[in-house]
Amino acid sequence: MQPYAIAIHGGAGTLVKGMMTPEKEKAYKEALTAALRKGYSVLKEGGTATEAVIQAVVALEDSPLFNAGKGSVFTADGTHEMDAAIMEGRSLNAGAVSLISGIKNPVVLARDVMEKSEHVFLAGEGAMKFASSLDYPLEAESYFYDAFRFQQWQDLKGTDAFQLDHSAKKDSKFGTVGAVACDLHGNLAAATSTGGMTNKRFGRIGDSPVLGAGNYANNKTCAVSCTGSGEFFIRGVAAYDVSCLMEFKGLSLEAAAREVIDKRLLDIGGDGGLIAVDVHGNIAMPFNTEGMYRASKNAFGDEKVQIYSD
Ligand code: ASP
Repeated sequence: MQPYAIAIHGGAGTLVKGMMTPEKEKAYKEALTAALRKGYSVLKEGGTATEAVIQAVVALEDSPLFNAGKGSVFTADGTHEMDAAIMEGRSLNAGAVSLISGIKNPVVLARDVMEKSEHVFLAGEGAMKFASSLDYPLEAESYFYDAFRFQQWQDLKGTDAFQLDHSAKKDSKFGTVGAVACDLHGNLAAATSTGGMTNKRFGRIGDSPVLGAGNYANNKTCAVSCTGSGEFFIRGVAAYDVSCLMEFKGLSLEAAAREVIDKRLLDIGGDGGLIAVDVHGNIAMPFNTEGMYRASKNAFGDEKVQIYSD
């Protein structure tokens, strides 16, 4: 049997044991479990890896707990600008959107770019025009409002600083989301969605929608979704680097993923983590931060839902 598998993340960062109340921890684990099982049931029923990662990421985008869709962080202008990408390993088909606002599920728009346009990556006003041509409804700003998120922005407002929302020292919540899957047919897919970094300006785009940086899939090697300080993941072409280490150096999924997160990214000063899956259903979820919201499930039904480095 072709082993199928799925892994998801909800962001990496300063997630230290004991910093979160047991109730919050429970809420995160429940949200991760629900998203994981949504994607997993698609795979179990013979659905595609693409559909599985979409379902899982939509569930995470709809949760206010994570920095994507509903829970997106505030920009320096007090708005929400979201990025998302999806890639399929069989055909190397891909779609990405950036600097979009008012869209409930950016990952669905990314898939529409892949399936319904001649293009791969649409940004800003143009991406919004494309959404409107497909009759996407626009959510009011209030849909994306969250008091904690707003406070994070207030702490940085008027300064040049911007930050990973889950790296705030006092309390860590939220995070970019992503999913990777291998389906019953041996096809891979990766999807990533984010609100970016709190107080970002100048049309800043992170790694999440940049193919090869924060998101990548290739049936020859693996599917990867990253989270962390996006500028470094872009410079390190992190997701593609995992694939290259497997394809050209023959490293295993785990070894390639660890080399990128524990060595190459650290060497240039980047922090964060990634989730990855290969065509044999192997899963890797390394991070060089204190923790990463993550979960995985394979064809044998082994389910993991974790936050810290345990
Ligand atoms: N990588 C994302 C970005 O730089 C942030 C995150 O992972 O939370 O936009």
